[in-house]
Amino acid sequence: MLRFFGRGSAFADEHNSAFFVNGTDLILIDCSMTAFCKIKKEDLSSISNIYILITHTHGDHISGIAMLIDYEFFVKHIPVTVIAPSGQVREEIAWYLKNIEGCGDSWYSLTVADRLKTDWFTAAIPTEHSPELSGKCFGYALTIDHTPVVYTGDTHIVEPYLPYLKPGTILYMEVSAHKSDVHLFAPEVKDFINDMISKDIKVYLMHLDDEDFIRKTLEDTKAKFAPLYKGEELRMEDDSRNVLGNIYDISDKLYKEMCSNKENDHATLFKYLTELGKAIVGADRASFWKWDTRKNTLWTQSATGVDKIVIPDTTGLVGKALRLGEVVVTNDPYNDPDFNADVDKKTGYVTKSVLVMPVADIYGKFIGAFQLINKLSGDGKFDAIEDTRKLSLPALICGIALESETFLEDSHHDKLTKLKNRMGFYNDFSRRFNKFLEPGCDRPLSMFICDIDKFKRVNDTYGHNAGDDVLSFTAGLIGSFCGEKESCYRWGGEEFIMIMEDTDLAGAAAKAEEVRKAVEASEISADGNLIHCTVSFGCRQFDPSMTIEENISVADGHLYTAKESGRNRVVC
Ligand code: GH3
Ligand code: MG
Ligand code: MG
Repeated sequence: MLRFFGRGSAFADEHNSAFFVNGTDLILIDCSMTAFCKIKKEDLSSISNIYILITHTHGDHISGIAMLIDYEFFVKHIPVTVIAPSGQVREEIAWYLKNIEGCGDSWYSLTVADRLKTDWFTAAIPTEHSPELSGKCFGYALTIDHTPVVYTGDTHIVEPYLPYLKPGTILYMEVSAHKSDVHLFAPEVKDFINDMISKDIKVYLMHLDDEDFIRKTLEDTKAKFAPLYKGEELRMEDDSRNVLGNIYDISDKLYKEMCSNKENDHATLFKYLTELGKAIVGADRASFWKWDTRKNTLWTQSATGVDKIVIPDTTGLVGKALRLGEVVVTNDPYNDPDFNADVDKKTGYVTKSVLVMPVADIYGKFIGAFQLINKLSGDGKFDAIEDTRKLSLPALICGIALESETFLEDSHHDKLTKLKNRMGFYNDFSRRFNKFLEPGCDRPLSMFICDIDKFKRVNDTYGHNAGDDVLSFTAGLIGSFCGEKESCYRWGGEEFIMIMEDTDLAGAAAKAEEVRKAVEASEISADGNLIHCTVSFGCRQFDPSMTIEENISVADGHLYTAKESGRNRVVC
């Protein structure tokens, strides 16, 4: 993330200036003279452009820009672009560079932030600092290594930054040990900092005019001081302290997630584990793929965020790794016949290297795979031996988490019909349907229960195998009537339940009637015989004042009536 040449205020030995490296670009936020003195000592041979984002024009923030421009122009020949947060500040910087510092116009570029077309720039955020700089003081929202970053600059208010402070953001905020109308006073921002940290925002403090006072005042928050740059190589990925800190942060989140899992699934666990793999190996993207052997698909949720991506298990590099049961590495994907370039074509992303590591359950059966895309360090290529060694721990934990998830999934499903069983029913109820029955929810929830007519006769006449085939067929047919808002379950022997969200009794009866007609019209191939079957239905709109069982029992009563009054019918 950002590292700081200095994190002190005007009277400090090292003034507030930060930087990050993006490929061959060095991006500075402000450039004080004390920062310039450090930059001058750096080996910048891997840097082809320097950008300086200006927050405001106080001397302790920008005193080094003219020196840096001169030095790069006359000595190092690296182009410097100064980025002003607004047109007005741009004019003032131009005047200052020309009249005070005597810089030639052609020695540097000067632009306004909103004209920037880079993937790391998000917004210049106008804020309030000293009255003399009214309308001319800014912070920045940036995206560094795919992580949202907010840098407050000098400010005495936090409100302008709030729209940018989402979970996962890194916030670099100024704090002062002195109460004034121009800076954030440490004791007064304690609650704000705690609130940010509780929202999964990392807080780093800067502009520290009295480190001891601020440390003491804020020691029981989890805010840290902004990390000082200690003269390591400028490239981010070589900062092993950073990697280790990252790993600790993620494993801490993992532990907390395990101890407070309210979601009843492992989605967040997998999210953190993929982040962990990405941080350890130093890849640009990571995803964890689950192998659904029931549907012969591979699916992932982590690659692009919330969307679930499903692909056939015979395709792609993940399919190949699972098929072979081996790590697959390609450092030239566009020439690899197994690489599927569809996502790149759709999004414009360029995949340069891929590593897939399959993971197995405790019996050694492969059940999923870790995928890393675009190695960031070194020559940008994955090393099948070294990188899998690094990835082994998160992959192992993913394997165990996935195995317990698969085990849980299996226990919620019926092997014969592949529908969910009663355990699956109650699990879905607590996760999805209960909210319909909570006080104040006016969305209707309905169900039908149905039972195959005279099914015993099928078994008696054609045998148990034929009976099984009829059950599977009927279950599949009922399942085919389920859209996003409907879910069906094998309730018992030849009884099925469908739950319908946002559906009233009439809607449930209409759905039941559709299914009834479809079964009636079907010719079922069962163990070499062609069989016709019918089904009877009892419908019910859930009454929130009754228990689930009481509601089902009413529906069951209607089913009994349907049977009694001749079968093959729907009763409400
Ligand atoms: P009704 O129309 O009143 O529902 O008559 P029915 O014959 O369908 O009802 P009954 O409850 O008498 O018989 C249900 C039969 O379903 C009995 C049981 O052996 C059979 N059955 C339950 N589970 C399975 C299964 O998994 N496979 C097979 N082949 N048969 C099953
Ligand atoms: Mg029956
Ligand atoms: Mg029955």
